[in-house]
Amino acid sequence: MRWQWKLGTFAGIDVFVHATFLLLIGWIGYSHWLQFGTIAKVAEGILFILALFLCVVLHEYGHALTARRYGIKTRDITLYPIGGVARLERMPDKPIEELWVALMGPAVNVVIAAVLFAYLFATNGLVPLTDLTVTSGSFLARLMAVNVSLVLFNLIPAFPMDGGRVLRALLAMRMDYVRATQIAANIGQGLAFLLGLFGLFNNPFLLFIAFFVWIGASQEASMVQMRNSISGIPVTHAMQTKFETLSPSDHLDRVVSLILAGSQQDFPVVQNGQFIGVLTRDDFIKALSQQGQNAPVADVIRRNVPSVDSHEMVESALIRLQESGAKTLPVMHRGQFVGLVTSENITEFLMIRSALRAAGAVPNPMV
Ligand SMILES: [Zn+2]
Repeated sequence: MRWQWKLGTFAGIDVFVHATFLLLIGWIGYSHWLQFGTIAKVAEGILFILALFLCVVLHEYGHALTARRYGIKTRDITLYPIGGVARLERMPDKPIEELWVALMGPAVNVVIAAVLFAYLFATNGLVPLTDLTVTSGSFLARLMAVNVSLVLFNLIPAFPMDGGRVLRALLAMRMDYVRATQIAANIGQGLAFLLGLFGLFNNPFLLFIAFFVWIGASQEASMVQMRNSISGIPVTHAMQTKFETLSPSDHLDRVVSLILAGSQQDFPVVQNGQFIGVLTRDDFIKALSQQGQNAPVADVIRRNVPSVDSHEMVESALIRLQESGAKTLPVMHRGQFVGLVTSENITEFLMIRSALRAAGAVPNPMV
């Protein structure tokens, strides 16, 4: 179980809410009950949190729809108690595109705050900021204040906040991407350290945020280093060429013996030398428990698997693995099936390469 429920699909993107979000709702309801003791106040408190998270969802759509303009799909948007996450299939390569994708999230909150400000101004509903607290002040005035703080928080120049991406994009316009990421990550960790130090003496919640920022910064830096270390290497160097294949007329019992005899997870299915699909381990286990070992492989094959050309770069193979969610992709050369590529494979390839490099055995970048 993924501990999340689908709220719906909007503009072609699935929106999920994580189970822990209910804890937040419960906590808000309970604390309002303790403070005011009326159902009306409890309902208002919960309504406020829902309105706030609607603003967060719109913020994520700001990222997702901008990314779509650059041809990048968004897998889904999930709401957590600490905020929303839009899972883009990949990050834009051009710094200017990353800049826009990062900025358009907070821009949505700027627009919401401005609209609320105009409305409150027109209706004489504006109050000095100092009169606002989390639980007092008019609903719309508090919603405006919260949108302003969302903008400020997200623009902190540290990964995984949008501000970290803005900073990296700006740096990447002047230097190479890896160096820009390293500098942005260092600045982010420096800020996280200061935030943690301040939190230690003032607000323990800030310690938690500092930790989250620290981890985000180091993850981003190592991901980009990995991407950099594989750029310029063709798939032929990192693909598997020794593996078992199945024929569509095989039965699952053959797969049972192959799995027990080796460590292969997914099996390519080949007919007369032509690749026709993959039998994944998960599909196999499911079919085995439902149909038994006499079921034909042909019934369980996953067809329409994306493939990689042997002359493509390892980087694009990794992107296709991520985008398709598949664990194994077939490698083709001039329409012929020549090998398999998996993310474990690529990781092993990189480990061997860096070990050989450390030993001084590989003067050139190819193994
Ligand atoms: Zn954002």
